[in-house]
Amino acid sequence: MEGPISVAAAEALIEAHMPRFATERIPLALAQGRVLRQDIRADRDQPPFDRVMMDGIAIRHEVSLARYRIAGTQLAGETAMTLATTGDCLEVMTGAMLPQGADTVVPVESLRKSEGYANLTAGAVNAVGQFVHRRGSDCREGDLLLSPGRMLRAPEIAVLATNGIADVEVSRLPAIAVVSTGDELVDIDAQPEPWQIRRSNDHAIAAALRDAHFGEVSVHHVTDERKRILGLLDELLRHRDVIVLCGGVSMGQRDYIPSALETLGVKQVFHKIAQRPGKPMWFGIAPGDKPVFALPGNPVSALVCTLRYVLPALRAASGMPASRPRAVTLAAPLTTHASLTCFIPVALEDGDDGRLMAQPVPSATSGDFASLVRTDGIIELPPNASPFEAGFTAPFRAWS
Ligand code: AMP
Ligand code: MG
Repeated sequence: MEGPISVAAAEALIEAHMPRFATERIPLALAQGRVLRQDIRADRDQPPFDRVMMDGIAIRHEVSLARYRIAGTQLAGETAMTLATTGDCLEVMTGAMLPQGADTVVPVESLRKSEGYANLTAGAVNAVGQFVHRRGSDCREGDLLLSPGRMLRAPEIAVLATNGIADVEVSRLPAIAVVSTGDELVDIDAQPEPWQIRRSNDHAIAAALRDAHFGEVSVHHVTDERKRILGLLDELLRHRDVIVLCGGVSMGQRDYIPSALETLGVKQVFHKIAQRPGKPMWFGIAPGDKPVFALPGNPVSALVCTLRYVLPALRAASGMPASRPRAVTLAAPLTTHASLTCFIPVALEDGDDGRLMAQPVPSATSGDFASLVRTDGIIELPPNASPFEAGFTAPFRAWS
C-alpha cells in the first residue's frame, strides 16, 4: 500500500478528476446563490437617460440667478419636458429624465418656494451638472458586466434584473448523497444505549453543503455490513451526482467502504493524506464521472475534510474560480505534528493593528467536536515547520 499523499497533491488530484456540472436556465427569482454560466452584457446605456438624482428644480446654469420662475413639474416615469427660458425652472423628482435645455439640479433642501418662484439659498449651486446622473456614465450598451463563474448575490441579481435577464443560465445543482456508516450510530430522536451515539456528522456535512448553496442534499445511514453498504451505494450511484461518505475508511475490521466502492466500479484516485485530522480520507470516481468522497468518521475530521476538499471541488465543478483563503495571524504559539499538514480550529479576533488574529482552540482529539462551536473555522499549518510562533500568517477557511 502506498503512503499518504500531500494536501497539495490531494487537492490537485481532486481538481483533475472532478467533472464540470451541466448548465440549466432558471427564473431569476430562484437564482440567488447559484453560479452564473453565461456572459451578461448591458442591454442599454446605464443610466439610460440623464437621470435626476434629487427632488428639487432643474435649471439651465448659463447665468446663475437667485430665483427662477417655476414653469411646471417633471415627474419620474414621464418623457422629458423642455425648459424654454433661462430664467425658468421645472420642478423635478428623483428618477425623472432631466428636462431638455436643463443641465443642473438644485435640491429642495436649497430652495424656498413662494408665489410661483423658487428662491435659492446661498451656495445652492456648486457646479454645473450637479445631481445629474449622466446617461451611460455607469456603463455603455454592450459592455461586459458579468462573466461565467460568478456566484449570484444581491448585487449580481440587481445587474441581471436591470438588463432584462428574466431567465439566467447557471450551473445545475448536483444531487448530493451524504452517507453515514457505523454500527454504533442511531437517529437523533433515539435514546442511545450506553454503547451507542447519535449520528451527527451526516447532519453537519449536509449543513456545510447547504451553507455553501449546494442545497440538493439527501442524508442516509447504513450499518457496517458489506451487503447493506453495497446495496445502498449501488442505489445512490444510480440516482445521485456526488456521494459524500463518512466513516468506515480506516483500518478497522468492519471498515468496508474502500473495498465496497471498488466492487461497485468506483476507481480509487487516492487513499490517505498526510494531514491531521483526516488522514484516512479516500477519493474516487464512479462510472458516469461521479465523484465519491469518503471521509473519516471522526467528527472534526469529517468537517475539516468537507471544508478543505469537498466544498472547493464542488465550487470548481460549478465553474467558480478557486478562491484564495483569507490570511490570518496566529495569536499564540503552536506546536503541531512535525511531518503532517495540520488543520487547527481557531476563533477570530480583530487585532489592534487591524490584522485578523486567529486564536487556536485545539480540539483534544479528532473526536472532540464540542469545542468547535467556540471557533470560526480552521487554519492550515504546513508540515516540517513546527513550532509556529505567534505572528505566523496562515490561510483560514470559515465554517460558513
Ligand atoms: P470510523 O471512521 O468509522 O472509524 O469512525 C470514527 C469515529 O467517528 C467513531 O468514534 C464513530 O463513532 C464516529 N462517527 C462516525 N460516523 C459518525 C456520525 N455520522 N456521527 C457521529 N460520529 C460518527
Ligand atoms: Mg465506523
